[in-house]
Amino acid sequence: WKHAPGQFRALLEMSRFHGEKVFLVYEDEHITFEEHFRRAATLANRLVTDYGVAKGDRVAIAMRNYPEWVVSFSAALAAGAIAVPLNAWWTEQELAYGVQDSGAKVLIADGERAARLAGTGVPLIVTRGQAPAGARSFEEVMGEVAADVTLPAVELAPEDPATIFYTSGTTGKPKGALGSHRNLGQSPMTVAYGLLRAVALAGKDIGAAAGVRRVTLLTVPLFHVTGCFSALTTTMFTGGGLVLMYKWDAGQALELIEREKVTAMIGVPTNAWQLMSHADFGKRDLSSLTTLGYGGAPAPPKLLERINENMPERSASNGYGMTETTALAVGNGGPDYQAKPDSIGLPSAVVDVRVVDPMGEVLAAGEVGELCVRGPNVIMGYWNKPQATAETFVGGWLHTGDLARIDEEGFVYIVDRAKDMVIRGGENVYCAEVEAALFEHPAVDDAAVIGVPHDELGEEVGAVLRLKPGTATTAEEVRSFLAERIAKFKIPAHFWFRDDELPRNPGGKILKTHLRREVLGG
Ligand code: ATP
Ligand code: MG
Repeated sequence: WKHAPGQFRALLEMSRFHGEKVFLVYEDEHITFEEHFRRAATLANRLVTDYGVAKGDRVAIAMRNYPEWVVSFSAALAAGAIAVPLNAWWTEQELAYGVQDSGAKVLIADGERAARLAGTGVPLIVTRGQAPAGARSFEEVMGEVAADVTLPAVELAPEDPATIFYTSGTTGKPKGALGSHRNLGQSPMTVAYGLLRAVALAGKDIGAAAGVRRVTLLTVPLFHVTGCFSALTTTMFTGGGLVLMYKWDAGQALELIEREKVTAMIGVPTNAWQLMSHADFGKRDLSSLTTLGYGGAPAPPKLLERINENMPERSASNGYGMTETTALAVGNGGPDYQAKPDSIGLPSAVVDVRVVDPMGEVLAAGEVGELCVRGPNVIMGYWNKPQATAETFVGGWLHTGDLARIDEEGFVYIVDRAKDMVIRGGENVYCAEVEAALFEHPAVDDAAVIGVPHDELGEEVGAVLRLKPGTATTAEEVRSFLAERIAKFKIPAHFWFRDDELPRNPGGKILKTHLRREVLGG
């Protein structure tokens, strides 16, 4: 075995040592590490020979969490290209933006997305469905998969660009986050650090923790960094299994945990919440499940309380990260999380954090300011956006746009997004804090807090609530419930009750602009 230069190629070749172990599970398909390697290496060679893909070219992927997503991602990187995972929920127009913005040379899509991409004029490879005229099918491109296939020759260094992931677009148009092979290569380390800390806190060592095969159920898309880096690359690194879903469905997740003996579920906080609310919860054997990891959106402390009640003895963890931090940057798990359920925890071993005021001055413990992150997980910058890059990456520090404080012990608390704050008569009301208090209410199933324009105060606090089926409450009753928990000026003046789900993106974040338009009009 010759160590391939380039971080991802090394990871791919290393994963091959796990040979006949199952790597990917999708419905009744079970794909081994060896099979995956051969398919990825074959496609990598085809990208080079049939499409002229060379180092630095962009290969875009637009599909659901199919095993072919992983093959395409691996192949693009192994060929030296920059993999560009596009958001599969994007409309035709948004997909066209992603293709154009990244300047993709080849597109690999599923049948559902293929028609939406056909108009871009970029060569298209289609899996799981009909290839439109002019496109080629994935299987046809792959051709025969040889047992002795090797990766195409390409010189790669750790600082070469590897990926362009688009940010969620919560605060504006999604930005392409350009990540290097080094960023990608360290991603399993940030996760492993959290796992090892939990092992150490339990008074065990890595030897005692070994012997259990880690099988991860991924409940979020691979085209976001949590899926790709906290789940996929970590699974390749550890030789575990990764169970993929067509789409998130709590009932199906329960079934899969039982069937595949899943040990860890990785996703967003809503997934864990919905799992426990499902009618089949309690009917399935969930004894294999030891870990619940979530992040990407605020996790109300009530969630941990519910996990402790419904699934005792499990290790839950809340991870904070951004597209710009290649997933995990700060994490809270095991006993740490139990002690400080409102914190996102400690920075990963390789990560530095600090909180600054608007002038960039570093603030003392306990003071609220903008969270900044530095480390090998911080991306190179935004693709094609020099101005946004210059504003966000200052003096080696990534400015996250999140308001936070750090306590005396170094634990970080996200107060809110800088842009998700309601300013009521000059007083800052952090939506996340009011939402966490609303989640304490026994009838509340989902909650979002928004600013409502007000002539005198500038903004008033408004809350949109979805109640648990079979429960009822009134605005008055919720207000008096909140009065025992939060200051008076933070208590919503307006309430909207609804039966349908709140608009969320697949990353678990409430689409507040959307929601505001829905309830306020305009
Ligand atoms: P855009 O940057 O396009 O506006 P986005 O910031 O939502 O979209 P992502 O990179 O997917 O795009 O999300 C990162 C953000 O998610 C963080 O800046 C933070 O606001 C939020 N976040 C992530 N993890 C957590 C967590 N554990 N707790 C609270 N908030 C979190
Ligand atoms: Mg962002």
